[in-house]
Amino acid sequence: LYNIVQDLKGNIRVYCRIRPVFNDEAGSIVDFIGQDDSLAISDPSKPQSEGRKIFNFNKVFGPTCSQNDIYADIQPLIRSVMDGYNVCIFAYGQTGSGKTHTMSCPSDGSSEEDMGISHLALNDLFRLSNMRKDDAEYEIQVQMVEIYNEQVRDLLKFEICSADGGSMSLSDATMHSVKSTADVIRLMKLGDDNRVISSSTALNDRSSRSHSILTVQVSGKEISGCTLQSCLHFVDLASSSERVENPEEAMYINKSLSCLGDVITALAQKNSHIPYRNSKLTLLLQDSLSPGGRTKTLMFAHINPERDSFAETISTLKFAQRVSTD
Ligand code: ADP
Ligand code: MG
Repeated sequence: LYNIVQDLKGNIRVYCRIRPVFNDEAGSIVDFIGQDDSLAISDPSKPQSEGRKIFNFNKVFGPTCSQNDIYADIQPLIRSVMDGYNVCIFAYGQTGSGKTHTMSCPSDGSSEEDMGISHLALNDLFRLSNMRKDDAEYEIQVQMVEIYNEQVRDLLKFEICSADGGSMSLSDATMHSVKSTADVIRLMKLGDDNRVISSSTALNDRSSRSHSILTVQVSGKEISGCTLQSCLHFVDLASSSERVENPEEAMYINKSLSCLGDVITALAQKNSHIPYRNSKLTLLLQDSLSPGGRTKTLMFAHINPERDSFAETISTLKFAQRVSTD
């Protein structure tokens, strides 16, 4: 039922979210145009008439859009998980553009009203499974992994592990049964702490240089005997960057982001060969990024509209344009 609406919208969608301007002196170089699906960006080094470029997406969310506005749009997509669809939601963009804000803010869990879409989605899934409890029994489990320099790490495995992270797959990562969004928030905090501890040595902001994947697995059993198993992945991608600080990290990040772009483009174009094997990220998510049928993908391209970010913003918009179907 949720799918009817979704199928009309297509199985791969690309949205753009524009962060508010924080530095008033910087001013915004991004304007909304048309309906809610286009934006114009001006090159601050050129005169207005020459430096304006237009980009179209499935939807553009402006700086005043709330988390609830965004959730209202994607709610049918989230609910399609309860109908057996595997769903991947990606947050792409430069550091500070709002990826974590969209996905899971606030990281300290302090303010309820700014909850990101992963929290809103979990609330909804628990609510739905409760509503349907006379007809079906659902089990919800989560896992959380990080991919850093093509090494996969289970963020919810609490003993010290020297395992070969390079060959880990999602089925190796620990699954944790959860009964409420609060359970998940607690686990996510532990996962985030795990990330921070491991990075306190040399790297101060590892979170922007690694991909984190929160996977919600829903298993259902209807009274009629039908069963369902599906996954919802929230992927907070490593920050794309034009600036190279650590060449090795930058190489891994750029390679995995461009592989993700290749896979989504191949899916959108319905190619017969989908190049999953070129990165850990696409390999791990292969089952949820497969062509034909029961998978859906949503990419949020995040941009910071301040003039200093022009080069990064153009590169984000170009990436997002490349994976857009229309
Ligand atoms: P990223 O994860 O892409 O590095 P963050 O999500 O951490 O970026 O955002 C950077 C800062 O900007 C955070 O303090 C965040 O709360 C704030 N922020 C980002 N997007 C928004 C938004 N749409 N509305 C309000 N604050 C935002
Ligand atoms: Mg972040």
